[in-house]
Amino acid sequence: MSDPVEPPPTGHMRVLITGAAGFLGSHLCDRFMADGHEVVAVDNFITGSPDNLAHLFGRPGFHFIEQDVTNYLYVEGRVDGVLHFASPASPVDYLEMPIPTLKVGSLGTHKTLGLAKAKNARYLLASTSEVYGDPKVHPQPESYWGSVNPVGPRGVYDEAKRFAEAMTMAYHRYHGVDTRIARIFNTYGPRMRPGDGRVISNFIVQALRGDPLSVYGDGSQTRSFCYVADEVEGLYRLFHSAWTDTPMNIGNPREFTVLELAELVRALTGSRSEIRHHPLPTDDPAVRQPDIGLARRELGWEPAVGLEEGLKKTIPYFRAVLEQETGARARVLADG
Ligand code: NAD
Ligand code: UDP
Repeated sequence: MSDPVEPPPTGHMRVLITGAAGFLGSHLCDRFMADGHEVVAVDNFITGSPDNLAHLFGRPGFHFIEQDVTNYLYVEGRVDGVLHFASPASPVDYLEMPIPTLKVGSLGTHKTLGLAKAKNARYLLASTSEVYGDPKVHPQPESYWGSVNPVGPRGVYDEAKRFAEAMTMAYHRYHGVDTRIARIFNTYGPRMRPGDGRVISNFIVQALRGDPLSVYGDGSQTRSFCYVADEVEGLYRLFHSAWTDTPMNIGNPREFTVLELAELVRALTGSRSEIRHHPLPTDDPAVRQPDIGLARRELGWEPAVGLEEGLKKTIPYFRAVLEQETGARARVLADG
């Protein structure tokens, strides 16, 4: 088989990454910096933290702009790539911030596409498996149009991303912008916020604290979890590929029930936490699993890290964060 991946554009690129202080955005900054590119990172810190970029501040080739990307975005100089990752991503976050979520998916996508058009830059949209909603086709190929409740509580995220995809394709078709759309499936790893409410961060933190693991519903719903290093590699390859025709699923196709995940986290942390069931959130998808045939074919990519291995890399990060928090609390108490 001939190599279908276009070689990375020759030489040095200057890319702008929105949502750069978040979980995925900060790992993407690392990936571009590691290859010697220049990064202009943009974030307003509504769910991200400067801590995620602390190691990059002051490094040659790294620039930071604190800004809400729903407002006009002025960037001086050349921009070769725009990667739009700004958006609350945890259901807890987007349910607490429905309007900022709708705005960053709509206005933020419009502004960043406008920037890409003005700078003649390549554009990558961070879309999501949530565009498939509660899927009636399983696993989900990119050709599936999805089953989303537009007026349910999750609709603020799902519809914002569906609008973002439509806007991206419109800029591609009508303005000739060189676009890519990644449909990202549940990704986990270091730099997730301990309190961000997603299932892996919740379970690990609960297990380490000895608190009950909060399983929503009976735990038979499924998700397919991708370790962050695999996800970022897939995104990086998609950005450099020639694939513009359709969105592309980037995720790990190995599917687990939430209950299986809870048991695995308990075993790997050595925790004796009990499992406690809570009501299932409205419109929580019953199943989710990516069909990654397209990514395999076009990018020569597939995830290499299984869930057990990925959790073993992630648990020490959460342990360290919790120890820091406990230390900080103890110092406050000691100071009186
Ligand atoms: P995250 O919450 O850690 O990061 C999002 C970042 O965007 C934060 O730093 C936040 O402060 C920033 N942001 C939000 N609104 C902004 C605005 N208006 N202006 C500037 N910055 C803003 O989330 P994440 O998990 O890193 O997700 C990143 C992207 O990937 C999101 O677009 C999300 O929808 C998408 N995604 C993530 C996953 C996943 O499993 N992590 C799955 C599907 C899609
Ligand atoms: N979930 C759970 N306990 C938690 C958090 C989430 O059982 O403490 C479930 C949630 O109902 C969903 C799955 O885990 O079925 C994944 O949730 P997450 O918030 O990580 O992301 P989603 O895939 O729903 O966007």
